[in-house]
Amino acid sequence: MNEGYTLDTQDFAGQHEDPDTGGRTFCAGWVARPDSRNGIQVVSIAHPSIASASRSAAARLLAAILLLAASGCAGGKPAPPPQSLQWLCMGTAAAVSAPAGQPARVKRLRETVGAVFAEIERDLSIFLTNSVLNAVNAAAGDPTPVPVNTHVAAVLRHALDVAEAGGGAFDPTVGPLMTLWGFRGGPVSHPPAAAAIAETRERVGWRHVRMDLSDPAAPAVALALPGMRLDLGGIAKGYAVDLAYDRLRAAGETDFLINLGGNLRAHGVPGAGRTGWRIGVRDPFHTDRMLGTVVLREGEAAATSGNYERFVVLDGVRYAHIIDPRSGRPVIGVAGVTVIAPTAVQADALSTTLFVLGPDAGLRLLAGFPGCQALWVLDEQPVRTVASPGFRMR
Ligand code: ADP
Ligand code: MG
Repeated sequence: MNEGYTLDTQDFAGQHEDPDTGGRTFCAGWVARPDSRNGIQVVSIAHPSIASASRSAAARLLAAILLLAASGCAGGKPAPPPQSLQWLCMGTAAAVSAPAGQPARVKRLRETVGAVFAEIERDLSIFLTNSVLNAVNAAAGDPTPVPVNTHVAAVLRHALDVAEAGGGAFDPTVGPLMTLWGFRGGPVSHPPAAAAIAETRERVGWRHVRMDLSDPAAPAVALALPGMRLDLGGIAKGYAVDLAYDRLRAAGETDFLINLGGNLRAHGVPGAGRTGWRIGVRDPFHTDRMLGTVVLREGEAAATSGNYERFVVLDGVRYAHIIDPRSGRPVIGVAGVTVIAPTAVQADALSTTLFVLGPDAGLRLLAGFPGCQALWVLDEQPVRTVASPGFRMR
């Protein structure tokens, strides 16, 4: 039995009419395009670097959560949509938005946010050979801890906390399984044999990560087992969004929305007379449609994990890029999870965790995370969603 609500999409959409604006919404940023293959969108996952990510693929990734702006006037003509600048970063699309009519400010926001994202990518990417994270991975099995910087230590700390809270559903050492299933390129066309999965799982396990924080100014990390590999793809973007948010706030900026591949964090409002930044949750089965919309409160974050943007097809079966570390196999049964949380790092880590756990265990876990709400879209027809109580009532 679910502890939350099961609701149909009509019900969900109806919950989110904005009373201040007559419920009118329009697309301010990106429109998800219908796909010729019945809503299934294929994105190259062989090497999702900036160089290989096509602009349209990146735009589709960003459209996992559609950015919407509520029409800001009750009786008159619609207020102008917010202004956004977009660019490619961390193998996905990044964007920053601000109320209309402030082009110089949007440019300034983009510069600050872009610098933060580039900094975090240099630290945490598994695709950049010189990243700090890859230095740790290269030393797996060596008991001497590798010096890392405070960002790597902070993200890893968050990741290990979520791993523990979720009973290992989230695991930052999932790297070898991602490779085994073909999510990191290479000639994989069949699902791996059970023996190969079992052998690979021996090199996966968050409890084998040793963090040396004895000198907080000089953190260091060791991976206890040879062949272990950290992969922070389920949390790093959220961390980067929080860091960018804090930098903008420290610089006195207000009224903006940051988006990194569907990891969002909002401040203030998108224009005069508006209640807040309104985001739309995309229907994973009909990517040109929305299941509903939510207005983010001050400082709130949202993230979506889905099975429809990054996946592999092995023997004709589509596998999502989220692995259940407890079985060593890609998760089935969930099409998408959207999380709203006080911070983007929480939203990002939780969206991946709740995708693995599914609604029953997921709702139990969520009860221990104040201010966090989730919506699951199950991988079944007709479409069925499960929302935590607070998500439904927003
Ligand atoms: P996206 O990267 O599309 O925003 P997620 O935030 O859900 O989606 O992260 C998925 C990524 O997280 C995968 O590409 C992989 O790098 C990593 N990952 C996959 N399974 C797990 C897991 N069980 N725990 C932690 N990280 C995972
Ligand atoms: Mg995530």
